Amino acid sequence: MIYNTLGKTGLEVSRLGFGTMRLPTFGSNAEINEEEASKMLEYGIENGINIFDTAYPYHSDILGGSGNAEPFLGNFLKENSLRDEIILQTKSPSWAIEEKGDFEFFLNEQLEKLQTDYIDIYLLHSLTAPGWSHVNSLGVLDFLDDCLSSGVVKHVGFSSHMEIDYMIEILDEYPKWEVVLTQMNYLDEYYQTGVMGLNYLKANNIGSMIMEPLRGGRLVNNIPEEVKSWWEIAEVKRTPVEWALQYLWNRDDVDCVFSGMTSLEQVKENIKYASNEDIINDYDQEIIREVARQYKSTSLGNDCTRCGYCMPCPEGVDIVNCLTEYNIAQMLRDPKASAMQYFSLIPEDSRADSCVGCEKCLPFCTQMLNIPEELQKVYEFFGSEFDHF
Ligand code: SF4
Ligand code: SF4
Repeated sequence: MIYNTLGKTGLEVSRLGFGTMRLPTFGSNAEINEEEASKMLEYGIENGINIFDTAYPYHSDILGGSGNAEPFLGNFLKENSLRDEIILQTKSPSWAIEEKGDFEFFLNEQLEKLQTDYIDIYLLHSLTAPGWSHVNSLGVLDFLDDCLSSGVVKHVGFSSHMEIDYMIEILDEYPKWEVVLTQMNYLDEYYQTGVMGLNYLKANNIGSMIMEPLRGGRLVNNIPEEVKSWWEIAEVKRTPVEWALQYLWNRDDVDCVFSGMTSLEQVKENIKYASNEDIINDYDQEIIREVARQYKSTSLGNDCTRCGYCMPCPEGVDIVNCLTEYNIAQMLRDPKASAMQYFSLIPEDSRADSCVGCEKCLPFCTQMLNIPEELQKVYEFFGSEFDHF
């Protein structure tokens, strides 16, 4: 494993971080397969991963509500006496804060779920510009000051899908920010905070952590032929996962890349790559740029990253899989195959036409998608029966 210094925190973190939002489940997102997930954590720790990321709503069965990832992780760390051996990061559910006392209320609940009396890194989760104004007006900075001085939280930061200007504005308002978690992969260099954001973090010695390194699996699943042909002409052969991760690890403004892993095989594979001092040279960079161009020119779908933050829909719409099957259909240009998946995998009352347009999911979308509009496109594309394909 290779380690980096996480900005001004001074923490030495494994460059591969373990994300707990996509742990294996028994079907429902809230039912973590604890036996399998424990094996993954064990292997990760034994092989050098030292930073773990979780959040209040991960593996929840209520939109934005309390999830099972924190209690699972807390239990695992307690049972194996590993709490002090790892760097634990979790996030305050900024969307759920209604009054000042809520900051402390949620933190206490999280400490209890995680079975610990301190958090190494506490982030304000998925800040938006209005979300920041709201929590700021309720005194979040006083709350963070108190957390830092009491020692219950060691380092503070935020996760963000905002544009760079907003990120800088927030950073400028509080000198104690030490880390920021942003979305980055080779398709998103100029999206959200992008490379300019990473440069800014590096210049200000703010720890830079990355989410969505594989863009929700889009860079590694159902790869278009045009993309495969570029990977094939590269001198050094790498898997698509390896290309995506090494692209990030070769940037000197990236300290840690979080991967939300779902199987032990993925943990093993990612650790193997994270331990390899692989160099992405100028020729490789050209290949990556061509691959990004191909993805952008072949895709007519939407930007869903399958993060699942919009789920569960109160009407039972399987937003993630509806958007995914639509995107795959656009990318592979094989509507019949995608329609087979759409109609066989997604139950009738969870398909796009069950959306009632209530917009409850909108504030949760990390990619600012107009989900009901996108679902309408899905419905217009697939219809309500398989017959016409
Ligand atoms: S807008 Fe549609 S998908 Fe979103 S929460 Fe409402 S019913 Fe569900
Ligand atoms: S629609 Fe938005 S919130 Fe839902 S999975 Fe896709 S990107 Fe994530």
